[in-house]
Amino acid sequence: MSHNVFEEQCFLCGSKATYVETNSQNCRYYRCESPACGDYEISRGAMERLKENGVWKADISSRACEARKQNKFIRVIIDSHSQQLTDSVISRD
Ligand SMILES: [Zn+2]
Repeated sequence: MSHNVFEEQCFLCGSKATYVETNSQNCRYYRCESPACGDYEISRGAMERLKENGVWKADISSRACEARKQNKFIRVIIDSHSQQLTDSVISRD
């Protein structure tokens, strides 16, 4: 399986980053080059919801940084039942 890698500014912090589309293109998996940010998977719906929420973006960015140090990443999605923005820490193992 091959993924196209796109170059784009990090959705969370604006640094140089790349992403691949995951989950049948419903999500993007970002790798941010900033040492203060991290890796995260985010759904289109969550991006729409977070677009204008700078405080929340900064919070997820710093937690993605912590997660990367532990070889983990953050997944941010809209919960299908509650319709709430939810994030969780995912282990790569
Ligand atoms: Zn970033």
